[in-house]
Amino acid sequence: MVEDVAPEGPEALRKELERYRLVVTDLHGKIRELESELQITTAMAEMPGVIVTRPELQQTMSRLISKIAMIVQCEKVMIFLYHGESGELALLPPSLGLTEEQAANAVVKPGEGIIGEVYESSESVIYNDALNDARVLPEIVSALRIRNGIAVPLVIKQRNEEERIVQERTIGVAQVCNKRYEQEFDQDDLRLLEMLAEQAAAVISNAQLYITLTEEKERLEDALESMRSGVIVVSSEGDIRLMNRAACEVLQLPADGYEGKQFTEVVSDDQILNLLQETISEFREQSTEVELDNEEVHRVETSMVVGENGTVSDVVLIFTDITDIRHVERMKTTFVSTVSHELRTPLTSIKGFISTLLDDVEGLYDERTRREFYEIIDQECDRLTRLISDLLNISRIESGRALEMTIEPVNLPEVVQRVLTAQQEYTSRHNLVNAVPTDFPTIEADKDKVAQILDNLVGNAIKYSPDGGDIVVSGTDEGDSIRIDITDHGLGIPARHREKIFDRFQMVEGDSKRKGIKGTGIGLYLVRHLARAHGGEVSLSWSEVDEGSTFTVVLPKVPQIEQSAEQ
Ligand code: ADP
Repeated sequence: MVEDVAPEGPEALRKELERYRLVVTDLHGKIRELESELQITTAMAEMPGVIVTRPELQQTMSRLISKIAMIVQCEKVMIFLYHGESGELALLPPSLGLTEEQAANAVVKPGEGIIGEVYESSESVIYNDALNDARVLPEIVSALRIRNGIAVPLVIKQRNEEERIVQERTIGVAQVCNKRYEQEFDQDDLRLLEMLAEQAAAVISNAQLYITLTEEKERLEDALESMRSGVIVVSSEGDIRLMNRAACEVLQLPADGYEGKQFTEVVSDDQILNLLQETISEFREQSTEVELDNEEVHRVETSMVVGENGTVSDVVLIFTDITDIRHVERMKTTFVSTVSHELRTPLTSIKGFISTLLDDVEGLYDERTRREFYEIIDQECDRLTRLISDLLNISRIESGRALEMTIEPVNLPEVVQRVLTAQQEYTSRHNLVNAVPTDFPTIEADKDKVAQILDNLVGNAIKYSPDGGDIVVSGTDEGDSIRIDITDHGLGIPARHREKIFDRFQMVEGDSKRKGIKGTGIGLYLVRHLARAHGGEVSLSWSEVDEGSTFTVVLPKVPQIEQSAEQ
């Protein structure tokens, strides 16, 4: 401080003046420092408290960088961040005084050039002759037109309750270049930049943490939303923390925000409510099957989220739609009983006729009657053989094994005729017409399987035309493939069943006209597989309820057989 001293001649006065000059310089310096600190404090005060998105971080950084440029009086400002995945330091946008291309190419490895060195050593560096400074990478100097600069580490400081630093971590480097007004950077600039860098590091690391968390949360929410299973998270107090779209659909609720509402107010199903209750009270994960009002069957499983104190903090309910599984199970049961019936009917008939013939020791039946009995036995044996062959093929398909194929030239008009002749035996009400041209091209295929396809389709045409009528089998040469159409004038198939009928055990139900018609629901499933085994297809190409249907078989002239490992 300046003391009050009496002047003692010119020499003393000069000394005195010199002292005053030093004090004034010192005061100027202090004022400058205070001014910069004030600027930094104002700059930091303008920073938003919580940054949760990348654009927000970019905006904040843009403001911070302008402030740095103003306070340190420089042309270029860059923030390099270390990226663990690439092991490199790259620019965090935006930068000041760099083109986009320059910014994109500014990538350095730890230890490389000034940036890499500052990152590794966590020590700040001033350089005032970039061109002749060996530490600065020449390519960076020329690419970014750097004359001089300061690089300081971006350090995150973790402090304890007494504000003492307990841990430090360098996350990158802040660099300013080209001091304005032809000046050089000095220790004051360095000190200012270090202070700004400390604030910047804190802003960046907090923002990155929030951004990662927010993005992670969004990804999780998106994943949950796109899940086909319904998911509801309920707190132990009973309020809904999360409910995805699928859960709303399962419970037939409009997709809306149920978060925060009481679970009991949103869900009324007793079974589901009990399940949740039991999970919490018994401290055990549970599962049950619920059949909802819309006849959908869902498996509901609970899973507990246990908090730090060992109690249940949340319960997650997961809904899986098992309607189809249960439906197939039901159909399987029906299938077993129909198949048993289908097997027993011809057997009863065969046994009946054989017993009758055996009992006729006196020769009561004439030759013609006996022959009729034999023919019936023969037909019933054929029926049994067909059914058993269908079942064997189904079991091969179900077990994922390829069908055994014997490929040979097949004359389709002949095969069609054989199938129609055999089927005509069973009906007098239907007129079976072979409209396949006699000069139809010969194809390469498994003859028995082609016959099985046609047999099934013609059999269905007869079965589902209870009032009789024409059943026409026609053929078209389509170049590389052939097409066979089987048209009947029967019951037709309602639109909603048209694709399903090709699935196993699927039968058109709830139609009084079909009541007496026996079926197993495997015919079309098998037929499609047999056609596909040749590289072909079977489809329903036309159908009108009460008017009839056309089933179409397309087979390549030369089969395209997929080789299976297991033959
Ligand atoms: P099923 O043993 O029941 O006949 P399929 O798999 O052969 O089994 O046929 C599935 C269902 O498709 C049948 O239950 C029947 O309702 C319907 N369907 C098949 N062919 C015809 C047809 N030509 N006309 C009407 N409905 C048919």
